[in-house]
Amino acid sequence: MEIPYKIYLEENELPESWYNVRADMKKKPAPLLNPATHEPVTLDELSHVFCRELAEQELNDQDAYISIPQEIRDFYKMYRPAPLVRAYCLEKKLGTPAHIYYKFEGNNTSGSHKLNSAIAQAYYAKKQGLKGVTTETGAGQWGTALSMACSYFDLDCQVYMVKVSYEQKPFRREVMRTYGANVTPSPSMLTEVGRKINEEFPGTNGSLGCAISEAVEAATSQEGYRYVLGSVLSQVLLHQSVIGLETKAALDKYGVKADVIIGCAGGGSNLGGLISPFAGEILRGEANYDIIAVEPKSCPSLTRGQYVYDFCDTGKVCPLAKMYTLGSGFMPSPIHAGGLRYHGMSSVVSELYDQGIIRATSVSQTEIFKAAEEFARVEGILPAPESSHAIKVAMDEALKCKETGEAKNIVFGLTGTGYFDMYAYGAFNDGKMVDYVPTDEEIAKALADTPKM
Ligand SMILES: *Cc1c(COP(=O)(O)O)cnc(C)c1O
Repeated sequence: MEIPYKIYLEENELPESWYNVRADMKKKPAPLLNPATHEPVTLDELSHVFCRELAEQELNDQDAYISIPQEIRDFYKMYRPAPLVRAYCLEKKLGTPAHIYYKFEGNNTSGSHKLNSAIAQAYYAKKQGLKGVTTETGAGQWGTALSMACSYFDLDCQVYMVKVSYEQKPFRREVMRTYGANVTPSPSMLTEVGRKINEEFPGTNGSLGCAISEAVEAATSQEGYRYVLGSVLSQVLLHQSVIGLETKAALDKYGVKADVIIGCAGGGSNLGGLISPFAGEILRGEANYDIIAVEPKSCPSLTRGQYVYDFCDTGKVCPLAKMYTLGSGFMPSPIHAGGLRYHGMSSVVSELYDQGIIRATSVSQTEIFKAAEEFARVEGILPAPESSHAIKVAMDEALKCKETGEAKNIVFGLTGTGYFDMYAYGAFNDGKMVDYVPTDEEIAKALADTPKM
């Protein structure tokens, strides 16, 4: 059967349930702990911060399938099923016998996969009768996705945006405001934790961990508000499983078995979502895949962090999570691939990595922009810097196949487009981009502050 450039599923082939890979893990990810008592958090405790049904999903490590409500499926239909593209042009350019596929998630205004979870979280907030939600955003994709989802369900949306992105990406901010969101640079003077961080680190660029603390405080101090998060959490990986389920359905349609599956890893949500159905098969002993998480050398939580309980946020107000972490006080250099700047990693991805179900590698910023441009010039899509981490490693794997003569099937997640990252592309084109790699001492210093268990 000849494989088309783009494999499109029909609307009625959109998954009816999300897949929860935790159900198939014999050793489950470690539970979230209450930061004061170090006991596993209860549903009631989580429900003060998150919407009730999302808190239930967060704690659910038993049900393999959770049905996608019709309202969410209807919204998904505006931009899904997303195409699985056969990268014929890239294969030709590289001269590789490998077959390269990418799942393209950039086909919506937010420009990334984040809308898949934003719409789910907004739906449950609306269903619970809330007035609005608060959140943080790093590079801005999550904030954009959430403002789109909130405007769809007529919810108030308050976004704390990492200061360096707020300044570097004014157009992102304006898209959010166009969808009706309130955007505040973080650390701000609106919250207690923001004022404290500003006092301690005057002139700070901000960080995701710090913006999270502000958004949580804003949610818990206003009646009718809850906090929502765009990555890291198990509920977000659950929603993102729609990526992997569609990818698998598209491959199955043409009888293609993936050999290598690659995703970029910031908090782990797109990677977790893409690989979940495949990891499930590995866990059930049904198949084998080489799964690779790609992270930036500037923020290498899997490849250089420790697998310990840590704070999820700088303000230390969120539950503790066991994850590969660089320490919650780790301040990544202001690299342009802003969406991958989080100090920790999803506890599900961390546990899969620890069990050897997936492996990890790290790449530097200049390498990924080089790969991004090569990709853009042959495949037409201008990729987000985050996504380009996966592109880089997919190209490397394809070049290895060129040496060995193997025709492997390489599948990677192309999480989004890079139209709002043109300053970074500009720096690269001008030869002004620098790579920053933290020293062992810097990482050890931040790790020294993980909670003593
Ligand atoms: C946010 C983002 C990422 C990283 O987040 P994960 O939770 O690790 O998936 C990757 N790519 C794009 C385009 C993003 O917006």
